[in-house]
Amino acid sequence: MRIFLSAAVVMWSAAAIAQTAAPQVDTPLQKVPYSPSLDPASMDKTADPCQNFYKYACGGWIKSNPIPGDRGSWNIYAKLGQDNLRVLWGIALADSKATDRTPVQQKVGDYFSACMNTDAVNAAGLKPIEMPLAAVNKLKDKHELTDFLARAESHGLPLLFHSGSTQDYGDAEKVIVGFGAGGLGLPDRDYYIKTDAKSVEIRARYETFIAQMLGFAGETDVDAKKDAMDILAFETALAQNSLTMVEKREPSNLYHMMTLAELEQQAPLVKWSKFLKAQNVDDPGKVNVAEPKFLAQMSDAVEKLPMPTLKAYLRFHVLIAAAPYLSLNVQQASFDFYSKYLRGVPQMPARWKKCVREEDRFLGEALGQEFVRLAFSPESKAATIRMTDQIEAAMGAEIEHLDWMSDATKKQALDKLHAIRNKIGYPEKWRDYTTLTIAPDDYFGNVVRAMTFEDKRDWAKVGKPLDRAEWGMTPPTVNAYFDPQMNDINFPAGVLQPPLYDSKLDDAPNYGDTGGTIGHELTHGFDDEGRHFDAHGNLRDFWTPDDAKKFEARADCVRDQYAKYVIVDDIHINSKLTAGEDIADLGGELLAYIAWKAQTASMALQSTDGMTPDQRFFVGFAQWACENDRPENARVRALTDPHSPAEARINGVVVNMPEFARAFGCKAGQPMVSANVCRIW
Ligand SMILES: [Zn+2]
Repeated sequence: MRIFLSAAVVMWSAAAIAQTAAPQVDTPLQKVPYSPSLDPASMDKTADPCQNFYKYACGGWIKSNPIPGDRGSWNIYAKLGQDNLRVLWGIALADSKATDRTPVQQKVGDYFSACMNTDAVNAAGLKPIEMPLAAVNKLKDKHELTDFLARAESHGLPLLFHSGSTQDYGDAEKVIVGFGAGGLGLPDRDYYIKTDAKSVEIRARYETFIAQMLGFAGETDVDAKKDAMDILAFETALAQNSLTMVEKREPSNLYHMMTLAELEQQAPLVKWSKFLKAQNVDDPGKVNVAEPKFLAQMSDAVEKLPMPTLKAYLRFHVLIAAAPYLSLNVQQASFDFYSKYLRGVPQMPARWKKCVREEDRFLGEALGQEFVRLAFSPESKAATIRMTDQIEAAMGAEIEHLDWMSDATKKQALDKLHAIRNKIGYPEKWRDYTTLTIAPDDYFGNVVRAMTFEDKRDWAKVGKPLDRAEWGMTPPTVNAYFDPQMNDINFPAGVLQPPLYDSKLDDAPNYGDTGGTIGHELTHGFDDEGRHFDAHGNLRDFWTPDDAKKFEARADCVRDQYAKYVIVDDIHINSKLTAGEDIADLGGELLAYIAWKAQTASMALQSTDGMTPDQRFFVGFAQWACENDRPENARVRALTDPHSPAEARINGVVVNMPEFARAFGCKAGQPMVSANVCRIW
């Protein structure tokens, strides 16, 4: 993935709201405004490119783009994302007012109207969650838990663990049931484990927040305080038995096929076949339990938990999941902890942003159709396809000429490369929302129905043939991804626009920027994680032991390099976590450079704006990443974001490229020239 996108897909995750922030801009748009790629005003030409290239390429942008009050960070991707959002706003607004509407326009327009009606939302108070809270109160003993958890899951509210459809690691064609760890209210298990002063402080603040939320559900101060302490202790036990982000990067750590009977033996708390029947999954065969130790220990910990504490825990999780959709006081409390305290964001985003973001999440392929019509030309699509083909060809040639890899592994790697499916712009077939009811006067009901719809759609995939045409991002998204099991690369229309791809400009900045993104996603197929999957998307070790050893030695060069960079305070990059992205950044830019050179071999390229074509390629590259970040947000990202901070993502790449040193005349010994060049692909 080119940028961070984790919580956005976990719909009920309370951490997700920490991502929902953008600056205050108060007009909807009919089209995405043009901002040029390779903007000289974004540079700081007083900086020496051989001392700090990121500052040279992005210094002007950083100075003139302070972080808006409702954001944790601000960067070129976020700014474009905000422009796209304003276009979606224009669509939603028009659909909310139109009279003669298509069924899709009715849903888009009515969702927006209901969401914007804050008077109704505030008047409802906690009424929308009366039913689930009453269901918690009614629980008599733990035998009733399976039914309760199953009902919550089918409404899009995963409690204690995660579950859903997933591809079988061993046979990517098969869609099976998967169970994963869950149950935490803080963004990662490390928050419960670390002993430094900041982590201790965060846990104390979290405990206060838990008590505050329980107060909303009617608990007295004394009870809420006691319950908060017990809930934190319980979640800490869950965290201790959850894998770290780094452990999860190794796919074999997450692959444990077993029967439901075997699972029931290990984690007897939940009657698993009953749980699945409630999701309309009968007789699923073997399921994948990603973290068996977690489920076993969770089962045990819940069995030991006094019933009143368990009920307080469930009440709290119902509340934090629903908080973003409830009255302002509850929303504000949740925002104050997850966004203001944890990420340093001073103010809540404007209501329209929240509403349009939710529409993108719940009705993304309905809104997306209109967005594509307004913002994505067939020429952009054709240009991206051409560039992707060239970069794939460059990668093929690179693999063939690698001096450290045996022919046997090369053949398998090339098979994999040639099998990668390129998905550009938008899905071939749009998702059908016919069975989803959206009402103009029932905001919370719309949210629950949308989540239920998505949940049903997900469970319905179990046992059916794999749909390789499915997309994991909506068309307006400013991001891209590689999926190792699908073995495909995906570039939504939202990311293929100026200033990232600019059809008004020449190839140098376009290959430096978008070419680099394509190369980045392609390289993910061959990073420390992706390399474990074969051409069919199966988890299969196709490497000779010797080649695997050589790969790891080269990956260690990258890990050692990034471990030296500081994120904030004395926190260094956890380069075991970021290795995949760092490898993709380096490989991607090398491939983009090779493809650009091949594309322009017969052209006489001229200098522009006082920069040579090679210099413009590299400035174009750097200008995808210009960014300002709040220190609080940087601390969260240090623990949870598999991407390095922007400056490291630019400088960390160019120090490894002699092509860069040549372009700017940098000499050995200068900061932007590494004495120990890392190179994998
Ligand atoms: Zn990536």
